[in-house]
Amino acid sequence: MKSLERPVPPGGTIGIIGGGQLGRMLALAAARLGLKTAIYNDAGDAPAFQVTQDSVTAPYEDLDRLAAFADACDVVTFEFENLPAHAIAQLAQHVPVRPGAHALATTQDRLSEKSFVEQLGLKTAPFFEVSSAQQARNAFAHLGGKGILKTRRFGYDGKGQAKVTSGDEAAKAFESFKAAPSILEGFVDFSYEASVVAARGADGAFAAYDPPENEHENHILRRSTVPSRLSAVQAEEAKTIARKIGDALDYVGVFAVELFVGKDGALLVNEIAPRVHNTGHWTIEACQCSQFEQHVRAVAGWPLGDPSRHADAVMENIIGDEARAWQALAKTGALHLYGKKEARPGRKMGHLTRLKGKQP
Ligand code: AMP
Repeated sequence: MKSLERPVPPGGTIGIIGGGQLGRMLALAAARLGLKTAIYNDAGDAPAFQVTQDSVTAPYEDLDRLAAFADACDVVTFEFENLPAHAIAQLAQHVPVRPGAHALATTQDRLSEKSFVEQLGLKTAPFFEVSSAQQARNAFAHLGGKGILKTRRFGYDGKGQAKVTSGDEAAKAFESFKAAPSILEGFVDFSYEASVVAARGADGAFAAYDPPENEHENHILRRSTVPSRLSAVQAEEAKTIARKIGDALDYVGVFAVELFVGKDGALLVNEIAPRVHNTGHWTIEACQCSQFEQHVRAVAGWPLGDPSRHADAVMENIIGDEARAWQALAKTGALHLYGKKEARPGRKMGHLTRLKGKQP
């Protein structure tokens, strides 16, 4: 097993599990620092493969291919959280994995994630474990009002979620999820959504970006705006929440904490993403050190970069067919396209960042 007492020097290789747009933007940021990347993805034709020479297409369960991949890297990270825990444990026998298996295991299961957040004394929506249709009914009886049933694992962009207004609906939703282990959460009548994207270095250093305000459409992020409506005190509180979470997980790398901002101004933790995050894409143009460079710095053991923001920014996702308008979009801001061939409905094809008062 390689140890990582010293930083990965320029010329070293960072392995990235997952080859989507996040892996692609991580690889581009690493290249700027003179670091190489190798990408491991379970399907060919991945957006990140287009920007790196070393790519492996193999299942995430293929322990031999994972071991060979790890042996060719100085450190391994990942760009999405739905990875089998045993695969990460296997990788960790060969090479340092940052963030580690514990952070991944805690955050990839909504029940352990929410319990962890609660134990830290942070606020969340009320939640109950649901492992049977009867439990779904009982949980709803405790909750009352409205709730959201969510599968504990493998949910993203609203998948594996159902709004419910009665015990029967909760039980039916559980059955429609094929009895997958779930939680029932209280529906939060929030004022708006925000997030904090933060980084923790290998030495425990902490850096957080200005928290953006986020708008969703059809469960998919539409827009992130900085500055948000959060007051200076709330923005500081959001960063403190992230710091508590990062320290408690002994986290190394960038992560995001999604927040509901209550009508009374309270900040409730919705979700922790153990990776770079869509609500941090604006940092590429509006900050000296983007979230992608920050993550590369953290996992490579380099000093963290300056997260301060030098411009106001709005980032909008380009979803499905909207990418056809690339020529018009290119005139209005900093255009990022992810190199995906097929524009399926709901698929994130790129994003556009506009800095206030600036032309592209
Ligand atoms: P999630 O996958 O948990 O991030 O949820 C996706 C989106 O669904 C969130 O960004 C919210 O817009 C909405 N949502 C999730 N949980 C709740 C909740 N407990 N109350 C109200 N809205 C929610």
